[in-house]
Amino acid sequence: RFCEVQQAPPIEVFAVSKAFTDSTSEKKVNLSVGAYRTDEGKPWVLPVVRKVEQELAADNTLNHEYLPILGLETFATAAAKMLLGSTHPAITGGRVTAVQTLSGTGGLRVAAEFLGRVLKYNTAYHSAPTWGNHNLIFKQAGFTNIAPYRYWDGEKRGLNFDGMIEDLSNAPENSVIILHACAHNPTGVDPTQEQWKKIADVMEKKKLFPLFDSAYQGFASGDLDNDAWAVRYFAERGFEMMGTQSFSKNFGLYNERIGNLMVVVKDTACITPMRSQLTLLVRGSYSNPPCHGARIVSRVLNDPALFEEWKGCIRTMSGRIIEMRKGLRERLEKLGTPGTWDHITAQIGMFSFTGLTAAQAKHIADKYHIFLLSSGRINMCGITTGNIDHVAEAINDAVCN
Ligand code: PLP
Repeated sequence: RFCEVQQAPPIEVFAVSKAFTDSTSEKKVNLSVGAYRTDEGKPWVLPVVRKVEQELAADNTLNHEYLPILGLETFATAAAKMLLGSTHPAITGGRVTAVQTLSGTGGLRVAAEFLGRVLKYNTAYHSAPTWGNHNLIFKQAGFTNIAPYRYWDGEKRGLNFDGMIEDLSNAPENSVIILHACAHNPTGVDPTQEQWKKIADVMEKKKLFPLFDSAYQGFASGDLDNDAWAVRYFAERGFEMMGTQSFSKNFGLYNERIGNLMVVVKDTACITPMRSQLTLLVRGSYSNPPCHGARIVSRVLNDPALFEEWKGCIRTMSGRIIEMRKGLRERLEKLGTPGTWDHITAQIGMFSFTGLTAAQAKHIADKYHIFLLSSGRINMCGITTGNIDHVAEAINDAVCN
């Protein structure tokens, strides 16, 4: 029977990263996987995280007992407050509940399972393009209709707002609309506040369900409140909605799988039955979540001094990305690389959708040992002061040839 199993297609981002690892070139650069790198091209354990880990290691009162099925409550509550703001009317009105999940991916999966199995939704829309996993998560959770809404305008290298609004207007009632809370992956282009208001108008009128995927809070602008504007706005408008949070990027806790699923309800009486259904879904899936990342994030979010220190770390990361954006644009413009490059600095967050084609990406990998996705998406954090000239020259060469 096992020999009947067919080879599944590779997941591009991991395949490209492997090509980088396998490359023996001294000049190799990895611009594919979405993880922060220092200016030395190294992973960064945030100093505040290191400090809390040392405190945890020295704390003999801690043990390895199971967490509750829905996770560490001090973590989930603080995470929801971080997303909505502690004075948000949904929070002060007790209309928010939150559960710890296996990072952002796990939060999306639990959300999709809940929406599909409990509320019988079967249609989900994601932006075109989107983070590659959205489609797979919803498919594996049993959604039978998964469709894109227009988002990226390749010509103008910006948001196709009219296309987005038209597609949302035509979506059937009770469709789940996956929205990137900020720092859209892969394009780095977010709607403006005025545009978000119009998106909310259409979704309200058409009875569409907002699911905000917040994987980069703090990474877009360096400010947690700015980056949560759209989520807070939708919650203020009175939507019943969900939001998933990842602490992979903003805490650098990628492999600890720490995330949160936040639910905003209209009627507080819904919360107890909802939590009971979420409990069943998690129990039958992974039973209960891991603790290490939850303890770290909980301590940081619940301690004002640690919280300030962490915000400083976020500013360090987002600031370095902004510097690399400026540097890359300047170099391409100086080289006279054909086309316009202002989108590199206009886009926000970890990624830039460069406009490079699959053939150009291949050229850059083959000739310069710089590895990026075939969509032309690059992780800005892979660029350092040491390799930025090499990257600019490679892009220039690919565009000129
Ligand atoms: N959503 C988006 C848009 C992402 O880019 C990512 C990570 O790349 C995630 C969710 C989830 O990541 P994780 O499961 O590591 O939290």
